[in-house]
Amino acid sequence: MEKIKAYNILTYGCQMNEHDSEKISWILDNMGYGSGNNNEECDLIIYNTCAIRKTAEEKIYGQLGALKALKRDRPDLIIGVCGCMMQKEEIVDTITSKFKHVDIIFGTNNIHKLPQLINNYKKTGETIIDIIEENREIDESLGAVRKYNFKAFVNITYGCNNFCTYCVVPHTRGRERSRKPEYIIKEIEELANHGYKEITLLGQNVNSYGKTFNNNYRFTNLLKDVNNIIRIERIRFMTSHPKDISKELINSYNELDKLCSHLHLPVQSGSNRILKKMNRKYTREDYLDIIRQVKEISPHITLTTDIIVGFPGETEEDFDETIKLVKEVEFDSAYTFLYSLREGTPAARFKNHIDYRTKHDRFQRLLDVLNPIGLEKNQNLLNKNVAVLVEDISSTNSNILNGRTLGGKLVHFKGDKDKIGNIVDVNITHAKTFTLEGTLT
Ligand code: SAM
Ligand code: SF4
Repeated sequence: MEKIKAYNILTYGCQMNEHDSEKISWILDNMGYGSGNNNEECDLIIYNTCAIRKTAEEKIYGQLGALKALKRDRPDLIIGVCGCMMQKEEIVDTITSKFKHVDIIFGTNNIHKLPQLINNYKKTGETIIDIIEENREIDESLGAVRKYNFKAFVNITYGCNNFCTYCVVPHTRGRERSRKPEYIIKEIEELANHGYKEITLLGQNVNSYGKTFNNNYRFTNLLKDVNNIIRIERIRFMTSHPKDISKELINSYNELDKLCSHLHLPVQSGSNRILKKMNRKYTREDYLDIIRQVKEISPHITLTTDIIVGFPGETEEDFDETIKLVKEVEFDSAYTFLYSLREGTPAARFKNHIDYRTKHDRFQRLLDVLNPIGLEKNQNLLNKNVAVLVEDISSTNSNILNGRTLGGKLVHFKGDKDKIGNIVDVNITHAKTFTLEGTLT
């Protein structure tokens, strides 16, 4: 009997990429491949790449370089590269000229064509490049092999129309398209029937879901419909844009019993001058007003954000505005980014790029403000019982389980692995800056 060929997918970047990799796994499983553990033992290796920051790109080049020897030793090995980086022409040029051992290059819009691309490569032995600029029709034929069997990502929109001046996403993932609600609901009902408890609705800006429909069905309608699906117990969404947050969405935290009490609302900067240069279309006052309304409805909600430090032209005064906003909102945590110049975006051409030392210095000062607030927020949970969805076993201690609260906070506690996938009550005994510890009650 012929040995089953194994694949390894290495995923970089955001949840959108993670979920794309789950779809690629589904395609490969259907082609008769089996999932392997590492590059050395696999017959097909796919790198799903991220282009958000230059460092992410450099990491991929490093990884691809390291594969050269493996391909030389095993010429039958197939190496594929996909994801956001591949939507950029100059990157495809670099890969075809400097990394000739890469066999297949495909973009974010044509994952569904992978079987054909693999077959073409096998037939010709030539590098196959297949990038399409945009996919107006959403392909509903793809399934996904999900990492967990109790929580799932579900796409609701693809692409982005916002064109923040620093960001490559609208260039790499095309214009915003919303999936029809009937497909989304069907997918979630099927997941619920298979025992899934938690759903994360995915989009670059979920609040603008449905804007292209010729009816009034919008994100909050979708949330209500998902909330009505029996057996789904937790609903999350990523990401929302402050300019499109509606009063109805804020009220949903009160009205929908399954909506997790967590809002991830990227602010990027606390300075109105910088927000304008970023083309974010809201002011710090708008942002603070949303937070005020959210806290009124849901005082204990977890609030998280994204912040970019060192955007071109950012002065000390601008940075101070960010620090002030962080103190005022009291975020539980934040993804913090050093501004990274992305060729082809408007900000790349802006004047007064900030030098590396200043960026780093501000970055550290921002963390010095964020971290004690995060710790204090976590300390507020001490001695309280919280509901935790158990996700997996600790990688360093097989007696310790990891799980997440409704607010999305990571909790470690002693327990048996048969609890994975269940929602359990945990009493919080220790609070750290980024994690909690507790005991099962
Ligand atoms: N669509 C989401 C939104 O607007 O909130 C986020 C998408 S992006 C994958 C995640 C984060 O990466 C952004 O919120 C931003 O903070 C950061 N980011 C994007 N482009 C960047 C750049 N050129 N340099 C540094 N950080 C960047
Ligand atoms: Fe990028 Fe802005 Fe779109 Fe988010 S909303 S993906 S930051 S362009």
